[in-house]
Amino acid sequence: MSEDAPVDRPAQTVDLLVAGLGPGGCAAALAARAEGLSTLAVEARGPQATRGQLVLVRSGAQAALRRLGLPDITEGRRTTTIRHVENRLRGALAAASSSAAVFDVHWNTSVASLTVTTDHVQATLCDETTGSTRVVRARHLIDASGGRLEALGRPARLRTGPSHLVTTAEYPVPPWFEGIVGVRDPHSAELYLLFPTWGRQGVIAYLDAPAGRVVDPQAFAQRFETLAERLALGPPQYAPWAVDVFQRALARPSTDRVLAIGDAVGTVDVLLGAGLSTAIEDGAEAAYGVAAAQQQPSAQQELTLTQQASASIFKRHRSGALRGRLMLGLRPLWARAWPAAALPDINRNSVGPPPLLWPAVRLVFGRRPQAS
Ligand SMILES: Cc1cc2nc3c(=O)[nH]c(=O)nc-3n(C[C@H](O)[C@H](O)[C@H](O)COP(=O)(O)OP(=O)(O)OC[C@H]3O[C@@H](n4cnc5c(N)ncnc54)[C@H](O)[C@@H]3O)c2cc1C
Repeated sequence: MSEDAPVDRPAQTVDLLVAGLGPGGCAAALAARAEGLSTLAVEARGPQATRGQLVLVRSGAQAALRRLGLPDITEGRRTTTIRHVENRLRGALAAASSSAAVFDVHWNTSVASLTVTTDHVQATLCDETTGSTRVVRARHLIDASGGRLEALGRPARLRTGPSHLVTTAEYPVPPWFEGIVGVRDPHSAELYLLFPTWGRQGVIAYLDAPAGRVVDPQAFAQRFETLAERLALGPPQYAPWAVDVFQRALARPSTDRVLAIGDAVGTVDVLLGAGLSTAIEDGAEAAYGVAAAQQQPSAQQELTLTQQASASIFKRHRSGALRGRLMLGLRPLWARAWPAAALPDINRNSVGPPPLLWPAVRLVFGRRPQAS
């Protein structure tokens, strides 16, 4: 990335380019459309959402989604899956893109290079299916890439938390339990949790290692598969993946025309269950901020409003990251609420709910949302 004048002639000029269409990018694109910005939104992968992780949609994100015309994304439940939220958002994008000339959504298209100048952003887009490239110019870019634009020279997020290894997978087996069940291994302190999927069509399993402990990812993934065999969960829908979900964050808010949102600003520990909601709130706020900035009469005022939006998004992440660290710090305490059993020996009778699960969920996350 450089400040030099770009040499390639842009094929398209838009108010806003959105890079990445996870939950944050979708919310940003929908909000940009609602604000009347000419918008190009690109996603490196296809339109099919795959992630089965169970998520809470927090009240701030519910409010942002209501404003975007999605009033009851959880349909009266407190939790849903990332896949369900992404499918609803992507459905809304598809409906919007067919009805507005200045709203383009391109799947299998990645931002391959970036040039940021004082008055615009120029990006090379790569069609992942054909390998062809084209250049676009935008007044602002919303970086909703989950941090992948770091490889193109955007500021790197710094590590702010200990290692925390998690493996998850989804199985098309009917859940034999109600709510969330799990078990804690008193020796390894690992937690194994099971959730019913949306519509109780399947089961999502999580294996969670204590934070800060060095765990061999391969052995961890192997243990996870053994547990699925013991519980006769059958073959997973997608290959299980072990991931170190350590927290990371930008050192400071963006100061240029690129507004980072969601995981591109920082990741919050999965135990807090806030990543998706934060990305949605960020995406909407970034697009409204860009719309307000572009209405300013001077370049200086435009930059000031752009920076204010970035700073506000950054602040949301700061507080989320603090709560994430607190949740991790308290893990040894609340993990004890789950039934104890040696993980290698468990069967379907070993897993159960902690007695105070639902009162605690109500205390921390508030009342169940109402379906409208
Ligand atoms: C194991 C695990 C469990 C989790 N559990 C929860 C949970 O229970 N609750 C919760 O709220 N959150 C959870 N999260 C976090 C949640 O998934 C993220 O916080 C959320 O998806 C962030 O959304 P985003 O839009 O910022 O980025 P992402 O969802 O990462 O989306 C980024 C998108 O950008 C695309 N992209 C990347 N590079 C480019 C490019 N160059 N050009 C174009 N597109 C690009 C990617 O393909 C991707 O679709 C979990 C995460 C993990 C890893």
